[in-house]
Amino acid sequence: MAEAAYDTDNIFAKILRGEIPSHRVYEDEAVVAFMDVMPQGPGHTLVVPKAPSRNLLDADPATLGALFTVVQKVAVAVKKAFDADGLTLMQFNEPASGQTVYHLHVHVLPRFDGVPLKPHTGQMEKPEVLAENAGKIRAALAG
Ligand code: 5GP
Repeated sequence: MAEAAYDTDNIFAKILRGEIPSHRVYEDEAVVAFMDVMPQGPGHTLVVPKAPSRNLLDADPATLGALFTVVQKVAVAVKKAFDADGLTLMQFNEPASGQTVYHLHVHVLPRFDGVPLKPHTGQMEKPEVLAENAGKIRAALAG
């Protein structure tokens, strides 16, 4: 089945344009990382390329190189910031997979031995908690 076209008014496009606030932890010319508002665990971070694509399937390969370079940088910082035992990366493509926001992004999730993830797009986290967690990741990225 053919996929729908990229919607320039999806929520991440609005965040990238600064029309909706986010707790940003990283930005360069090609990629932004910010906290997920419905985290599946503390420190759940989204890494998002600035170039528009619905998901991995229609992305420019050059975008993927820049994106995964930052995914690794953010993953190392998130693991350090939360003293995690491990990390899960997730990336969904089209509704059948669980994708809910149609701008390519990678989920970075710190993992702790024996602790399951909370449900995908479950509960909204308090802004002050997201701000505190973002601060920890920024500090780890700087250090
Ligand atoms: P997907 O299902 O598309 O892979 O994941 C989209 C993610 O975006 C979900 O984990 C959801 O919690 C998160 N999300 C949805 N709306 C917003 C928002 O307005 N701001 C932020 N920071 N995250 C969002």
